[in-house]
Amino acid sequence: MAEPRREITAECLCIGDELLIGQTLNTNAAWMGEQLGLIGIRPVLTRVVGDHPDRILEALRTSTADVVLMTGGLGPTKDDITKHMLCTFFGTRLVRRPEVEARIVELFTRMGRAPGDVMEVNRAQADLPEDCTVVPNLRGTASGMWFERAGRVFVSMPGVPYEMTGMMVRDVLPMLRDRFEPPVIVHRTVLTTGLGESQLAERIAGWEDALAADGIKLAYLPSPGLVKLRLSAYANADGTAARAQVDRRVQALYGLIPELIYGEGEERLEQVIGRLLKAKGQTLTLAESCTGGFLSHLVTSIPGSSAYYIGGVVSYANAVKMEELGIPSDMLELNGAVSQPVVERMASGVREALKSDWAIATSGVAGPDGGTPDKPVGTVWLAVAGPDGVRSSKGVFMGTRDLIIQRSATAGLNMLRKRLLSG
Ligand code: ATP
Ligand code: MG
Repeated sequence: MAEPRREITAECLCIGDELLIGQTLNTNAAWMGEQLGLIGIRPVLTRVVGDHPDRILEALRTSTADVVLMTGGLGPTKDDITKHMLCTFFGTRLVRRPEVEARIVELFTRMGRAPGDVMEVNRAQADLPEDCTVVPNLRGTASGMWFERAGRVFVSMPGVPYEMTGMMVRDVLPMLRDRFEPPVIVHRTVLTTGLGESQLAERIAGWEDALAADGIKLAYLPSPGLVKLRLSAYANADGTAARAQVDRRVQALYGLIPELIYGEGEERLEQVIGRLLKAKGQTLTLAESCTGGFLSHLVTSIPGSSAYYIGGVVSYANAVKMEELGIPSDMLELNGAVSQPVVERMASGVREALKSDWAIATSGVAGPDGGTPDKPVGTVWLAVAGPDGVRSSKGVFMGTRDLIIQRSATAGLNMLRKRLLSG
């Protein structure tokens, strides 16, 4: 096997006061990081600096990555701070590029301005450092600039996300690929639910430790109720060998935690349930208390859900639980709405009333108020009723009201998934 190629690193430098004060979310860095990863270049650092010459210069001087991608500070309003700093840093000067000026004039005349009326501030956007390669901007007036120094590449792009992404996709990413021939990156993402991040890490510790031998990296990506496990490996040539190694490790993981894995890649739990129900030709209804319709929203967000989802009852008040789902008032009085007997009756009640094969029911304390010592905020009863009876379980979820609702919904969907698989 050939020597693995050296890893190519990248750094994002985002310029803009609005990013520092939280007025604008730095989506450029997130997007660029993802795109770099996809072509096998490893993002190692992101920095945000204000529209301030000294800070920009200092960031450039202290950068060390092979690739430095800059966005922002190129508009006509801020006196083009970035351009001047790039000249200082690279020891060059601005020269007007007639072909760029012609394009700017053309852009303005297309918008109805007479060529003579195109202002100097706009024409000045054609003043670009003498020794840079101009990266055309088909979506605006600020050009991109590509510099090479001592084997490193610096690219400066506008801050406007629409302009930056256009430039990256059309020119910058292909140019980076040609320039560095980065190693192929192979990845596979396994989706789990049922255990929190730390418990999961403990469960798979031995498996995780062994990944290093194949040069595979593991990332835990938690979101409410779920943990995604992303395996990635850098490879030479077409990546066949690395792909086989990653596949082998994923196979081993399926053997280790079969009950926790619900899918791969971008798949969603509600999608998996839809797939399973469709395959069996079975239907679903919902009785929601604490999730207040959120489960129904998740289920119906999947295209084609009408094939298996009949509908549900948002039985928030006890009166609805009694009248629509047939729950006896003494059962509610004796146990409270957040209880095993009530949630089980909710599930079987909606299943019978709306005539489905399966039903999920939720009843819990989403908070922030309403908790008691024996039913603290986050206590949620979940039930799944099906052809082989009703089963329930209690969860105590942490977090804000929103998070508790999301976690309850995820847990309910996962209960159904397990029943569908075991039946
Ligand atoms: P200048 O600041 O010199 O005028 P610019 O290229 O930075 O030029 P701005 O006008 O500052 O352009 O920004 C254009 C738009 O792009 C603004 O809405 C800004 O919030 C947004 N923007 C800038 N940087 C980012 C970023 N890193 N992520 C997301 N949006 C950004
Ligand atoms: Mg700006």
